[in-house]
Amino acid sequence: MTESWRFLVDENLLGLLRWLRILGFDAIAFQAVPDSVLIHEAQVQGRILLTQDRQLVADFPQAILVAADEPKAQALEVAKRLKLQITAPLTRCLKCNAELKEVSKAHVNVQVAPKTLEIYDQFFECPVCRQIFWKGSHFKKLMKEVEAINQALSG
Ligand SMILES: [Zn+2]
Repeated sequence: MTESWRFLVDENLLGLLRWLRILGFDAIAFQAVPDSVLIHEAQVQGRILLTQDRQLVADFPQAILVAADEPKAQALEVAKRLKLQITAPLTRCLKCNAELKEVSKAHVNVQVAPKTLEIYDQFFECPVCRQIFWKGSHFKKLMKEVEAINQALSG
């Protein structure tokens, strides 16, 4: 079963936003909008509102009050609470939230260093910002973190 959790993250939880995207979830934030707009957008877009603002949760009890301070701990907290299944980690652009598309080597030829083209065969592109990604050292480091979160979820 594929899960399609969608989140709206309060603007002071941008570290959590990034972690949710790393884990493969659709997560957005709005900057400097009133709580009423956040609540409206969460309802209209079918997104789970994540916040550390008690007043916001009092006004909109469907919102989730995040207790942890550190972004990765916050992501773990949310994942535990909602029993999230992490099925597609590192498949989203962390900047744009868009799902990455696999592209051919020929397509990335001019944008990637020759050495990278030599080492890697699989490349992905963000359809929004057009950034190219590959499973290099940054990917591997993040994947280790994802595995640690997965372990913490199952343990
Ligand atoms: Zn992007």
